[in-house]
Amino acid sequence: MNRRMNHEVRLKYRPIGMPKESDFEIAETAVPEPGEGEVLVRNIFLSVDPYMLGRMYERKSYVPPFALGKPLDGGCVGEVVQSGHEKYRTGDYVLGSKGWREYYVSEGSEITKIDTSAVPAETYLGVMGMPGMTAYYGLLHIGQPREGQTVFVSAASGAVGSVVCQIAKIKGCRILGSAGSDEKIRWLTEEAGIDAAINYKKTDDLTAEVGSHCPDGIDIYFDNVGGTHLEAAIEHMNNNGRLVLCGMISQYAGQRSGPRNIFLAVSKRLLLQGFIIRDHQDIRGQFYKDMGRWITEGRIRWKDTVVEGIENAPAAFLGLFSGDNVGKMLVKV
Ligand code: NDP
Repeated sequence: MNRRMNHEVRLKYRPIGMPKESDFEIAETAVPEPGEGEVLVRNIFLSVDPYMLGRMYERKSYVPPFALGKPLDGGCVGEVVQSGHEKYRTGDYVLGSKGWREYYVSEGSEITKIDTSAVPAETYLGVMGMPGMTAYYGLLHIGQPREGQTVFVSAASGAVGSVVCQIAKIKGCRILGSAGSDEKIRWLTEEAGIDAAINYKKTDDLTAEVGSHCPDGIDIYFDNVGGTHLEAAIEHMNNNGRLVLCGMISQYAGQRSGPRNIFLAVSKRLLLQGFIIRDHQDIRGQFYKDMGRWITEGRIRWKDTVVEGIENAPAAFLGLFSGDNVGKMLVKV
């Protein structure tokens, strides 16, 4: 009989606007007992992601809202600590979707064994995981970059943005990134090797600043932010430019702003295409192959921001909206 305790993060109240830490609660429960043919997983890293905010409200979306008083769900990597399943052994590392808790039981179909021989397990929540695949699909399939083109990326130092920048570089593009601190700007230009970066929090006129860095216009805009960033990009897009609408984090808590110049999409013949990565699982094999190779060749770098302790998961999540992370925001359980 296993007498260790499990801790999980539950949504206590539906937030009004931006959530507060008091909208969450940490609950202590018994470690669940796996039944016949089941697996007990101890989570090691939890992913907190901007899209989770949408699930905290009672609103219609592509995923149902989180239930009140129940543990939240999310990407996680963990270790199998007990197994009655023929496919999994104790000590295997697995990728799952039962995050925001220390332990969970799985009947095996919704977890995936991960290969940690070449990259650390947590990489499957970042560059080798959902954010990396989002960057890969959005840039290559929608953006369709060609050598010599100019690519503008917002939230450029984040989990998705930092991979977009580096894939665009591999494809021979010129890259302008935007991020919210000088430390992030330094990482982007000195480590990730992008051509120019703007600290958007230090400019009064983002549109003018973007224009000054793109004398030949923008061919591809990868949008993670929306609002004034999208407006600035539209202003400087070249004819037939492509705007990859990946996310609009500046709008998730109910803000509704811009772009006021959307009419330019007509005369510039722009393509604005949104996407949700879960619709594109068919590219996973190719993504692992390409990303694995780029990592081995040293062409993709990454930085994680790791917050320790499951009790700090709500703060880590909220930190995404105040820019506390460089690269992937992770919680180490
Ligand atoms: P990040 O790692 O980029 O973290 C979020 C970052 O957004 C913060 O670090 C912060 O950086 C920036 N930010 C927060 N609020 C604002 C704001 N008001 N204005 C400008 N920047 C802001 O997160 P992800 O890489 O996980 O996600 C990036 C985007 O991609 C999000 O919009 C997300 O919803 C979207 N996404 C979409 C998917 C899809 O399938 N379409 C899948 C995965 C992610 P800074 O310091 O620069 O402000």
